Amino acid sequence: MPASPVTETRSTCPYCGVGCGVIIEAQAGQITGVRGDPLHPANFGKLCTKGSTLHLTAAAEVTRQTRLLQPMQRLHRGAAPVPVSWDAALDTASNQLRQILTDHGPNALGFYLSGQLLTEDYYAFNKLVKGLLGSNNLDTNSRLCMSSAVAGYKATLGADAPPACYEDLELAQCVFLVGSNAAWAHPILFRRLEAAKAANPTMKIIVADPRRTDTASLADLYLPVAPGTDVLMFHGMLHIMLWEGWIDTAYIAAHTTGFDAVKALVRTATPERVAQECGIREQDLLQASRWFAQSPATLSLYCQGLNQSSSGTAKNAALIQLHLATGQIGKPGAGPLSLTGQPNAMGGREVGGMANLLSAHRDLANAEHRAEVAALWGVADIPAQPGKTAVEMFEAAADGEIKALWIACTNPAQSMPDQRMVQRALERAELVVVQEAFANTETCAYADILLPATTWGEKIGTVTNSERRISRVRAAVPAPGAARHDWQIAVQLAQRLEPQLRPGLPTLFPYPLQPASAGAQALWEEHRASTAGRDLDITGLSWELLDASGPQQWPMPTGATQGQARLYADGLFPTVDGKARFSATPYQPLAEPVDARYPFSLTTGRLRDQWHGMSRTGTLGRLFGHVAEPRLHMHPQDMERRGFQDGELVQVSSRRGALLVPLQADAQLSPTRLFMAMHWGSEFLSGRAADGQRLLGINALTQPAFCPTSKQPELKHTAVKLQKTQLP
Ligand code: SF4
Repeated sequence: MPASPVTETRSTCPYCGVGCGVIIEAQAGQITGVRGDPLHPANFGKLCTKGSTLHLTAAAEVTRQTRLLQPMQRLHRGAAPVPVSWDAALDTASNQLRQILTDHGPNALGFYLSGQLLTEDYYAFNKLVKGLLGSNNLDTNSRLCMSSAVAGYKATLGADAPPACYEDLELAQCVFLVGSNAAWAHPILFRRLEAAKAANPTMKIIVADPRRTDTASLADLYLPVAPGTDVLMFHGMLHIMLWEGWIDTAYIAAHTTGFDAVKALVRTATPERVAQECGIREQDLLQASRWFAQSPATLSLYCQGLNQSSSGTAKNAALIQLHLATGQIGKPGAGPLSLTGQPNAMGGREVGGMANLLSAHRDLANAEHRAEVAALWGVADIPAQPGKTAVEMFEAAADGEIKALWIACTNPAQSMPDQRMVQRALERAELVVVQEAFANTETCAYADILLPATTWGEKIGTVTNSERRISRVRAAVPAPGAARHDWQIAVQLAQRLEPQLRPGLPTLFPYPLQPASAGAQALWEEHRASTAGRDLDITGLSWELLDASGPQQWPMPTGATQGQARLYADGLFPTVDGKARFSATPYQPLAEPVDARYPFSLTTGRLRDQWHGMSRTGTLGRLFGHVAEPRLHMHPQDMERRGFQDGELVQVSSRRGALLVPLQADAQLSPTRLFMAMHWGSEFLSGRAADGQRLLGINALTQPAFCPTSKQPELKHTAVKLQKTQLP
């Protein structure tokens, strides 16, 4: 028998928002290799540890049997799930959803999606929930990741559109990294920055972060900003720029509004105050302000340190307005560039896959936008009532208001803040459906119905990375077992509900289920048409063009031959008067400050070689070579003062729960600050809530407080205490 041929398929890495291109090798229906795509403009052939081991995790998923390959159903809560047919699973799910809809109305339903779904998946779910079911209770784990960046862009620049691009890393003379450990969380982008600095030794790099991370090792200047004080630090920088005459008055006058109010606001952000409250030396703040304002081109890169905050929108806006005040925007090498955590956080926003958004960057709160989307979809209307955002949705389920939770491609039982509250929500909901590729997530344990979904190497569609670049995702191997594509599951659910909800009317979901590429492309075409005339217009971008010319940045309207690298070069912003807006939002302290009972500030973050809840990376031993087990990092002075030893098992407690974890001495932290990685789940960490319920992972401790504008929770700070005592 001749050996099966080896095939090669161009696709995209499923991990972070850098969006690296990959070439997948496959043989006899199995993924056998992966390498970086030399033609992809995000990575030019390079891959980090996670990306370059994708073929090994794919193989480990087979040998360790971590994939969900068959629909499963529990006959009652507490019973083991048993295999059922797709028809049986979807009939049960749709009948129960319809019953809850009839008994309690559309707002008793909640759909919780993921920034790892493809744009086409998001589009189908958004239309199902907002167009067919008449609910806006559709949100996503991107709420935990990027919603403050969205709100910050909209508040200042008028649209959710990062204006800079990766090429600006090579063109910048000053790079300001804030709340971003890009060396671990966005490794290929960081390698690119390292290379740019090596080629241009006059480039200045400033890193502001409560932890002196690996990213800070590249810095010319490190600012150890105290947790939650970023707005005050940015205001202090603007205060100095005003005092020193480093602002661009001509740019401010021509292209912005609202500067006078901000000028008055930052008057009290004196260097002395910033030094005291932010923990930054006055001379360092002065140096950072000088480099930022006086560099020929300044680029800011920022991530969860700004976003995951109870004042996340204000932090984003305060940074963006430093660019507006100095004219550091709309030119090569300059501008704010938020780094997206997940591979398609951006694509989900583009199709309106959040509780407050509609298709093509339209706003749910805007009656005209609702009418436009209703007309596009052919429905009478889109409900005006705002949907529940991530934390609100689970709180509403815990309170009994939401009766059905449909969860796709994400693991809220581990990843949401205040884990006990999320457990109560999953226990109390009458129906929990989990649509997943992996059988090993904590959330699967709560599912009444489990639906097997495809994942990387099997999916078909598109994703958008941090620089607005849309890349194709292509299938290298067929779906394993009975797994189906996420959009197919949404469409098949919709088709079961339509006869009762829209009797006698044509289907809203005319997408062919087979071949899957035809259905995914039909969804793409509908999304593409919906962007006409919008800021992200991609009416000129077809799948054929993506195949022929490679990934493209939006906007790319009809007639364009390539996407647009940078935005706002003409100084015109997508606001009513064409001007960007300064936002005079005062500095607000942390939602849960440290005090005598809980004297430490715990922050969380990513490891270099792990991803989210480890359902994929946790299958591969070599990815534990960098960090083998969970550790709570603490400054050696704090350890000495409290009588703790390196490696000692301690109990770390917040107002919500407690965990047992070994300590690690870490002089890169400032005293009274602690760090622990976010990835470790029940296999590695266990603890207890105040009511005795078993908890697992770092979110046993974290708080549900969120930014009032973006609704993004404050995952970067929790007030905790440490004890030598054991858990009860
Ligand atoms: Fe994948 Fe991100 Fe690594 Fe690129 S940098 S290979 S997208 S994990």
